[in-house]
Amino acid sequence: MAKENLNPFESAQAKIKKACETLGYSDDVYQILSQPQQVIEVNIPVQMDDGTTKVFKGYRSQHNNAIGPYKGGIRFHQNVNIDEVKALSIWMTFKCGVMNVPFGGGKGGVIVDPKTLSDNELEQLCRGYVDKLYRNLGEYYDIPAPDVGTNTKVMSWMQDEYCKINQGNANFGVFTGKDPKWGGSLGRGAATGYGIYLIAKFAAEKIGIEMKGAKVSVQGFGNAGKFTVKNMCKGGAKVVAISEWTREKGTYAIYNENGFDFDELEAYMEKNGNLINFPGSKELNEEEFFTLDVDIFAPCALENAITEEVAHKLQCKLVAEAANGPTTPAGEKVLMDRGIVITPDILTNAGGVTVSYFEWVQNLAGRYWTEEEVVQRQDAATEVAFNDIWDLAQEHKCSMRDAAYLVSIKRIYEAMKFRGWVK
Ligand code: GLU
Repeated sequence: MAKENLNPFESAQAKIKKACETLGYSDDVYQILSQPQQVIEVNIPVQMDDGTTKVFKGYRSQHNNAIGPYKGGIRFHQNVNIDEVKALSIWMTFKCGVMNVPFGGGKGGVIVDPKTLSDNELEQLCRGYVDKLYRNLGEYYDIPAPDVGTNTKVMSWMQDEYCKINQGNANFGVFTGKDPKWGGSLGRGAATGYGIYLIAKFAAEKIGIEMKGAKVSVQGFGNAGKFTVKNMCKGGAKVVAISEWTREKGTYAIYNENGFDFDELEAYMEKNGNLINFPGSKELNEEEFFTLDVDIFAPCALENAITEEVAHKLQCKLVAEAANGPTTPAGEKVLMDRGIVITPDILTNAGGVTVSYFEWVQNLAGRYWTEEEVVQRQDAATEVAFNDIWDLAQEHKCSMRDAAYLVSIKRIYEAMKFRGWVK
């Protein structure tokens, strides 16, 4: 078997090319959209607790701001690299386009395993990232948010640093995903996982999977995975397997044919920092996890989880792409040939940025909404986006991913045309 191309930047470019060709756009449009407008690389010194100084490499990729300010998370992970950050920034542009959220796409990253840092070291790293990049951030310019390895605490340190640098001004709209106690929006923490559940539910209805009692397996139990499990359980589905990664053990999975209880999982995770030996569960190896007979599989971890090899193994009817870029192009082809429906990442996990947008609106207005208001708006936006894409995919007889790119690229093209960037 030929070696698979696992470069997410190149696969993102291939999707753009295909959509531009289908839409009949000139090559100029592809040329503009196939590269970030700018990519900034920074080196951030941190005084470690042992007295040494360590320099961490960070990036911010600003892909496109035709529709509005750059928007997207900051990832702290040991495998962050420039092509990954660029790809993630491209996906953000199209994710915002799919949801009709008035932002462009950006993404940041730092090469670090945050679990290896003390609180003091982590805080310095967060503040250092802002010290290096503040000129390129702003509530009308580039608005970061959490991603893999970052959370509300990271956002609060970064937001605080930005305010300090900006003469103490309370520009609370520069970072989203903050804690609701300080400028955050209710419902933001749960928003990505809730959106994943909604999209999976809408797709399940279309393809005849009854959500009540549907068997679900979930890869990852970070923010997206956790709230996906929570909402799947609440919606009556049976989450029978969860896979996770720890530094010590690597990848492992837990299984319970009767389905897990979310509150018990959360409490166990809180106490132990992992789900190893979760009461009543059986441990599965990777092969057993991927070949499980389930209705829905939600990859909620990192890109390239569903390679060609994994795609042959999966026994689900629906893949809800909760992570960014979880399916390789070769993996996607196999899934499609096997008739497995995929809800694409730029739609499935767009709940996070959708509620980030609500947070930004509340920050700029200085008026805060109830959780109910937030959820209602997320429900409405998600349903519209799903139906647009589902209908277009039926009309064009194409995948939902291709339809999502068509919807999104058209919106961005129209904004660029209006602004005189393309003919
Ligand atoms: N990091 C999240 C994503 O990949 C959220 C981005 C945001 O809220 O700006 O969609």
